[in-house]
Amino acid sequence: MTYTPQEDNEFARRQRARKKARLRKLKRRRAMLIAAMVLLLLLLIWGAAALVRALFFKKPVDPASITVPDWVDVQLLDVNPYSRPGTPLEKINGIVVHYTANPGTTAQQNRNYFNSLAEQNGESATSVSSHFIIGLDGEIIQCIPLSEISYASNDRNSDTVSIECCHPDSSGKFTDATYQSLVQLCAWLESELRLSERSIIRHYDVNGKLCPLYFVENESQWSQFKDEVAAWRKEHY
Ligand SMILES: [Zn+2]
Repeated sequence: MTYTPQEDNEFARRQRARKKARLRKLKRRRAMLIAAMVLLLLLLIWGAAALVRALFFKKPVDPASITVPDWVDVQLLDVNPYSRPGTPLEKINGIVVHYTANPGTTAQQNRNYFNSLAEQNGESATSVSSHFIIGLDGEIIQCIPLSEISYASNDRNSDTVSIECCHPDSSGKFTDATYQSLVQLCAWLESELRLSERSIIRHYDVNGKLCPLYFVENESQWSQFKDEVAAWRKEHY
C-alpha cells in the first residue's frame, strides 16, 4: 500500500497535532502537581506554626478574670504607695514562695502590718507586701488582688504572684497546716493561671535571698514540695 504525497503531509500534520496536544496535557498535569505540592507545603507550615503556638505560646490568663475560692479569706489592703500601689499585674508567669522571717507571728498580724505601712511618710519608708499570707493554722489571707502587683519579689514583682508563709520558729520550717495550705494554694493558682510546674519558685531563685529559709537550706524538701503540688493538682484540678 502506498500513500500519495498529500496523504503523507496530512499524516505528518496529524502526528504533530497529537504530539502538541500530549505535550499540553503533560504541562497541565505538571502545573497541577506543582500547585498541589505548594498547597500541601503551605498547609504543613501552617499546621506546624499552629502546633508551636499551642505548645509554647499559650495565651496568658487575665488575672482579673480569676475568682478566689471560699477557703481564702479576702482582706484587701488599702491602696497606698508602700504596700498596695494599685499597679496592674497584666500577666502572671510565676508563683514566688516566701517566709515572713518573723517567727511566731500570725497571718492576721502580718496582713495588718502590711496595711499599716500606708501610714508612713518620708524617705526611709518600707515597701513590702504579698498577695497571700498563710498562717500557722493553715489559714490563707489575700491582701492584694491578682490583677495588681505586690511588693515581695524584687525584679519579679511585675509578673508573679507572691505567697508569704508564717512559721513558728527561727528554723523557718512551716507547720504541717501551713505546708498543706501552701500545696493547695500553689496547685490552685497553677491550674487557674495555666502555669507549668516550673513556675513555682523561691524568693531565693529571684535574687539569692535566704527566703524561704527552710526550703533554701533543704533543697530536697523543696523538690518534694513541688512534687506534692503536682500530685495535688493532678488529683483536684
Ligand atoms: Zn521573701
